Amino acid sequence: MDAHSGRRGRVVIAGAGFGGIWAARKLSGSGLDVLVVDKRNFHTFLPLLYQVAAAELEPGQIAYPVRGIFRRKRDTRFAMAEIRGIDRQRRRLITDGPEIPYDCLILSLGSETNFFGIPGAARNCFGLKSLEEGIGLRNHIMSLFEEASQTSDPSRQRELLTFVVAGGGPTGVEYAGALAELIRGPLAEDFPLLNLSQARVVLLEAGQAILAPFPQALREYALNKLGRKGVEVHLGAQVSRVAPEAVLMEDGSALATRTVVWTAGVRGPAVAANLGLDTGPGGRIFVGETLQSRSDPSIFVIGDMAHFEGPGGALPMLAPVAMQQGKLAAVNAKRLLAGKKLKAFRYFDKGVMATIGRAAAVTTFGKVSFTGYTAWAAWLFVHLLMLIGFRNRLAVLINWAWDYFFFERAVRLIVPCMADRRSSAGFERDAARPEGDGGGI
Ligand SMILES: Cc1cc2nc3c(=O)[nH]c(=O)nc-3n(C[C@H](O)[C@H](O)[C@H](O)COP(=O)(O)OP(=O)(O)OC[C@H]3O[C@@H](n4cnc5c(N)ncnc54)[C@H](O)[C@@H]3O)c2cc1C
Repeated sequence: MDAHSGRRGRVVIAGAGFGGIWAARKLSGSGLDVLVVDKRNFHTFLPLLYQVAAAELEPGQIAYPVRGIFRRKRDTRFAMAEIRGIDRQRRRLITDGPEIPYDCLILSLGSETNFFGIPGAARNCFGLKSLEEGIGLRNHIMSLFEEASQTSDPSRQRELLTFVVAGGGPTGVEYAGALAELIRGPLAEDFPLLNLSQARVVLLEAGQAILAPFPQALREYALNKLGRKGVEVHLGAQVSRVAPEAVLMEDGSALATRTVVWTAGVRGPAVAANLGLDTGPGGRIFVGETLQSRSDPSIFVIGDMAHFEGPGGALPMLAPVAMQQGKLAAVNAKRLLAGKKLKAFRYFDKGVMATIGRAAAVTTFGKVSFTGYTAWAAWLFVHLLMLIGFRNRLAVLINWAWDYFFFERAVRLIVPCMADRRSSAGFERDAARPEGDGGGI
């Protein structure tokens, strides 16, 4: 109930990602009307997106329709709309469709790829932040193999089969490992006449170590494992420009390639700048300890989009942060509408994990760290548990088992779709940009 009007309060949750879904689940049955709004009609399980791009999982296995999640919750509804702004005076969300009124708003619109203004990067790199980008990248890689099989020019083949991943964080490491296994395993069998000693997977990291959030021993383990899978890791490698057929480095060197996957940075979503709320570094919205925006107490901001100052700086952009914040934002939204005192957010750090491929992973929790088979099994278990939908869990488990026992990737399909273009965020930005950026070398 709204403390002032006496009618049922209305909470609008913007974004059906980890933060939004967990907030809506917590609010359901609370006596409030809940509306979830997202520009897509499905929730994407982003931690497994790289496996879609590496032809390991079907897109539908890591996505779930939002209406299906709340099918049995009578007080929770869904609207598919793209959020463009907020009219804070009238408490309305501005969308590409009708305006949406709210009493209390929970914003969880995620993040987007940060190209740090590197010339040509937004236009020529592949992002890995949405299902559309994952499918586009898979199509592109499979198409390059087909193209390479039809040329006899070795230098052309080498360019087509050089795959560069920029950014040695968990996503870059996971994708580089998965790609190397795809090439040396199933694709080597699919293309017996192609000389796959030409194929390269190159991981570029600007710093002096990969997997920066992990302890030193785990970083060394990961570096060693990647090397054994045939991934070339270049440390201290700063990208200065990306052209359609090459990536150029600060030291003047260049790599001829048609594929640069950009996993080197994330920032708050572009729409955050249109909301009239106080934003911090990287375009994330400042929130206080109750998760309310500093500029408007009726708006909670959670997940990747929120700048929440923890003991060691802003909390990282991780699914558990978004999920825990979603739950507390739900509790606080209810308390706010009931005129009660709000609770402060405390993050429970469950550790971090990353996989490097078959039976190889790193996991750290507090002072405890694992590598190898144990870490890999823990990684598989945690990701299966977090996936939404029993059918998806079963399908993913079968896919993994098939891959493990038969060295087979089931999804080596080229299915062109509208999203078959490089980073969509980059395209939108570049469309508004004058000619000259991202052209030739
Ligand atoms: C490739 C990849 C791998 C990752 N791996 C891990 C991992 O292993 N472990 C981990 O903890 N974290 C991982 N993360 C990070 C984790 O996925 C995010 O921290 C988490 O998704 C954040 O949740 P969120 O709710 O803030 O945003 P999201 O889950 O991104 O959800 C945002 C939602 O908002 C919607 N949206 C965006 N803009 C609009 C708009 N204008 N209008 C309407 N709807 C909009 C989107 O469609 C989306 O559904 C990974 C991320 C990526 C990209």
